[in-house]
Amino acid sequence: MFIDKAVIKVRAGNGGNGAVAFHREKYVASGGPDGGDGGHGGNVVFVVDDGADTLSDFRYKRKYAAEHGQNGGSRRCFGKNGADCIIKVPRGTLIYDNETGRLMADISDDVPFIAAKGGRGGWGNAHFATPTRQTPRFSKPGVPGEAFELRLELKLLADVGLVGFPNVGKSTLISVVSEAKPTVADYHFTTLSPVLGVVRVGEGNAFVMADIPGIIEGAGDGVGLGHDFLRHIERCRLLVHIVDVAGSEGRDPYEDFRVINAELERFSPELAARPMIVAGNKCDLTSDEEVARFAAFVEEQGYTFFPMMAAIAHGTDELIYACANKLKELPAVIRFEPEPEILPDVDAVEMRAPKITVLDDDVYVVEADWLLPILRTIDMDEFDSLQYMSRVLEKSGVIQALRDAGVQEGDTVSLYDFEFEFVN
Ligand code: GDP
Ligand code: MG
Repeated sequence: MFIDKAVIKVRAGNGGNGAVAFHREKYVASGGPDGGDGGHGGNVVFVVDDGADTLSDFRYKRKYAAEHGQNGGSRRCFGKNGADCIIKVPRGTLIYDNETGRLMADISDDVPFIAAKGGRGGWGNAHFATPTRQTPRFSKPGVPGEAFELRLELKLLADVGLVGFPNVGKSTLISVVSEAKPTVADYHFTTLSPVLGVVRVGEGNAFVMADIPGIIEGAGDGVGLGHDFLRHIERCRLLVHIVDVAGSEGRDPYEDFRVINAELERFSPELAARPMIVAGNKCDLTSDEEVARFAAFVEEQGYTFFPMMAAIAHGTDELIYACANKLKELPAVIRFEPEPEILPDVDAVEMRAPKITVLDDDVYVVEADWLLPILRTIDMDEFDSLQYMSRVLEKSGVIQALRDAGVQEGDTVSLYDFEFEFVN
């Protein structure tokens, strides 16, 4: 079954804790601190798998987690980093944060996308040794990994999208011009999942053609497959509209042409405005005069027309060359831009009391899980962003809690990935 949407949960690994340990050796009176750092948690990473063309695997497995980092050990032994969790998806998969609806990434290129970052490993006590603090008896806990519920949506990447009523010969065309071998059959909805075919046009020139299940009239009202599948031609640079010019199934080609265009318009005016070439198929079943009359009808509306008999690959080369030429002048396949992260509204964030651990009098470690989603949006180099963070800390009572715990000007405050000096 063809599945092009899925909701999954991903969780990156937590960072391992730093170790508290002291060097011990026979005859060495007092060794220094040698607690190692915790390992980093693994990331959850998306990569393209060109062997996959549906999201059906995600129907059965919905939870993905990367490994946690291991804790640090004595003798400056660093904890092992957790392994990444690699998720393979078909090219053209869009990834949304299911909670906010934000588009996080378009997996169309071969650049891996880190959807959830693993937490940093905590520092072992060896890190905290200073001339005045020679025996630090504390280390830092690892930072929790990010976790999200994601919505995956496949929008195939193709240069040319075929549209037209069922049984007009779309699958036949793609099977004669590419290596793709879709089922060709004499009944409607033979194509239940989109088929991509690579069409080679001479030396080193090729484009991708997508055979999408037929749209039927009324698809916009929920009849048939229709609009669910139109999503897959959204990114096509060029549409090829195939019409059964012979009206071999008792329909009228003129009416067919109008109906499909209206469906496209209803789904997306932008898509309906995309460049379109018209191919009249099954010319063997009608007269040359009828074909010429239909050609005149579509050419009058500004379209280029090609007559063909897809079943015997007659006229298909001409169509393919015309597509290749047209594609040369068209912009590249649409890539969707990820949307920026929106800072959560300070007033809307549900605050709870933070846990504060005082280490060695002048290091204050703050733990507050609910701050994590906010912290990941903070850019330390950006003034507005820092202002926002200080507002959150003030409003949420973290600052007050630090004061209650006895923080002094100049003490170190450690808040997961952030570390700053306390200023009154
Ligand atoms: P799709 O539903 O648009 O993908 O249509 P198919 O490619 O599955 O074709 C539907 C039927 O039309 C099949 O039985 C094909 O063999 C037939 N067909 C395709 N091209 C031609 C053609 O040029 N002439 C005739 N007579 N039949 C064709
Ligand atoms: Mg088909």
